[in-house]
Amino acid sequence: MLFMRRYRSTKIVATLGPASATESKISDLMKAGVDVFRLNFSHGTHADHQSTYRIIRKLEGKFRRPVAVMADLQGPKLRIGTFKDDSIDLESGAKFRLDLRDTPGTKTRVRLPHPEIFEAAKPGTDLLLDDGKIRLRVKKVTATTIDTEVLTAGTLSNRKGVNVPGVLLRLSALSDKDHADLSFVLDLGVDWIALSFVQRPEDVAEARRLIDGRAAVLIKLEKPAAIEHLTELIEISDAVMVARGDLGVELPPEKVPGLQKRIVKLCRQHGKPVVVATQMLESMVHSPAPTRAEASDVATAVYESADAVMLSAETAAGDYPIEAVEMMNRIIREVESHETYHAIAAANHELPEPTVSDAITLAARQVAKTISAKCIVTYTTSGSTTLRAARERPSVPILCVTSSKRTARRMAMAWGVHGVHIANEERFSAVVKRAIETAITQGFAQSGDKIVITAGVPMGTPGSTNVLRIELIP
Ligand code: PGA
Ligand code: MN
Repeated sequence: MLFMRRYRSTKIVATLGPASATESKISDLMKAGVDVFRLNFSHGTHADHQSTYRIIRKLEGKFRRPVAVMADLQGPKLRIGTFKDDSIDLESGAKFRLDLRDTPGTKTRVRLPHPEIFEAAKPGTDLLLDDGKIRLRVKKVTATTIDTEVLTAGTLSNRKGVNVPGVLLRLSALSDKDHADLSFVLDLGVDWIALSFVQRPEDVAEARRLIDGRAAVLIKLEKPAAIEHLTELIEISDAVMVARGDLGVELPPEKVPGLQKRIVKLCRQHGKPVVVATQMLESMVHSPAPTRAEASDVATAVYESADAVMLSAETAAGDYPIEAVEMMNRIIREVESHETYHAIAAANHELPEPTVSDAITLAARQVAKTISAKCIVTYTTSGSTTLRAARERPSVPILCVTSSKRTARRMAMAWGVHGVHIANEERFSAVVKRAIETAITQGFAQSGDKIVITAGVPMGTPGSTNVLRIELIP
């Protein structure tokens, strides 16, 4: 196999973990259809992630296909301390205290090492523990103690997560661990950094300052507080994840589907890639086939025109990681070949911005359709024109031909885009030649086919797309 092209527009993000972080598994995952690998920094050591990263880059070279690597930082996740006997049973109506004391917990108290919660909690506030399985109602708060009553009972074990729904906490966007992980992954050379539990635009600004352009920034929408700043957050980030796992803890589950639709639509309007994540094929963690409802959930995200769908435990810790990707690939291809798919995307089409670049891009989509061109080739440095083309959701593939390896890799996240890394070209005539060559060698067009090319002339000024060219392949 010389080149590994995809026959679909919606991308697949797969999380790596103990079930999949070997060379042969990663190779199989790529063949099955993974476009973006997620390294989850809530688990694993730096040594683990480094070895996984090297394997991905080695295979990327072998398959000659740019792959994006996304480092997902844990973020300010709140957790309780540990218990003397590792776990306790909380009964409904029981009194339970959270405090700052650094001693093992008992049936009546446990450590909660986050002073920010003590500041923000008030009588009547609910605390959710262990992904919402246990609910505590706050009765009395001091600077060092929170007395609660158990509303929803259950077993509580060491270091379980804590959510405080509807309360904006004065947490810094990046924990000490995140700072260490961030400098590690920037040295490694990852393409995307995912920021967890983003609450406010300031959180993104702080991370951006540290990242300083060395990687693209994806924000995970998993706090209802973030939804209040939705438009602004989308504007200041490079991509967005609908992180339904944590989002569905603080919000009732019935609120999540509508919110997913709203976020996906708004991201497309802004031309920012959007990933729909969590529990997409959850039952495939232990079963070789998904439920009908899960297949339908993936299909819904594809119909909504999300850029990518994500696998978490299915590929990181499941018994069927390869099968899960194959399943996702099949569902996407089925939906995208369905008669209503392009009609739905076209109906949700947003107006272009009044820029030369958007005018050319919109025309490229139209021309490609009218003359049945095989693909749209965008020649770009920053990838911004390519993303504007993806925003149009054209009916033909988009090639992102670029002399920037980083751009080619980043674009693996975007709807319909195939990244191709080439040497820098100074002249437009050379770009045209390269575009034709690339379309042929990558398997998108052959002799007698037409292709559409967009570029900015003179070359080398980012965001200056002003040429539309139609070429007949000789
Ligand atoms: P996670 O994020 O897998 O890192 O928790 C995704 C989510 O919360 O849905
Ligand atoms: Mn999460």
